[in-house]
Amino acid sequence: MRVVFLGAPGVGKGTQADRVSVQFGHPKISTGDILREAVRNQTSLGQQAKACMDAGKLVPDEVVIGIVKAKLAELVCAKGFLLDGFPRTVAQAEALNRLLEDAKVRLDQVVNVIVPRDELVKRLSGRRSCPTCQAVYHVDYRQPKRADVCDQCGGALMQRSDDRREAVETRLAVYEEQTAPLIAFYRARGILADIDGTGSIEEVYVRLMRVLPVRGSA
Ligand code: AMP
Repeated sequence: MRVVFLGAPGVGKGTQADRVSVQFGHPKISTGDILREAVRNQTSLGQQAKACMDAGKLVPDEVVIGIVKAKLAELVCAKGFLLDGFPRTVAQAEALNRLLEDAKVRLDQVVNVIVPRDELVKRLSGRRSCPTCQAVYHVDYRQPKRADVCDQCGGALMQRSDDRREAVETRLAVYEEQTAPLIAFYRARGILADIDGTGSIEEVYVRLMRVLPVRGSA
């Protein structure tokens, strides 16, 4: 199964893609995770990306396409992959089409996860993450057992710099302007499915299973 997860920041597409990845054994490629790791390791990619990411803006297309190209080259022959946070612009979607055409494979499905804007602001600005093991919490919805301490590894929880209120507003505006046009792009190709991203992780997963090409296996 080759699936793109589309949706504004905070809709939970990474969480859902993780579950699909575990259940069906398909690797997940998250450009956000790859870029954050590069920033942590202070690689030259990380240095190029950091300022854009902190401000909530997109990293330039050529940088991101370069990363995905290398990863996809390893994966196109495999049974499937899940893309989370890529493509995010029409130029990235066109580059993805070319990569897949060259490899003679197709996307099976693009899932567009939808959550109202005020809920997204609440989800993102209350999110806390563990910089050591990357576990994710929320000040209201998923509190750690001890305040600001990671349940899994004991690390001190932090707010991602791009989850600060100003950066959240920028990310949502960037999504509307640069990423939302992909909804029409993929709808016109007949492979887009909308799902409601509100409610519990489990509820959203059930809706997801109804649209993925794995019917009956949830
Ligand atoms: P995410 O974790 O997917 O919300 O990504 C965090 C940040 O990484 C974004 O706000 C962008 O700055 C950058 N980023 C991730 N994926 C992309 C992409 N496909 N194109 C451009 N920038 C990206």
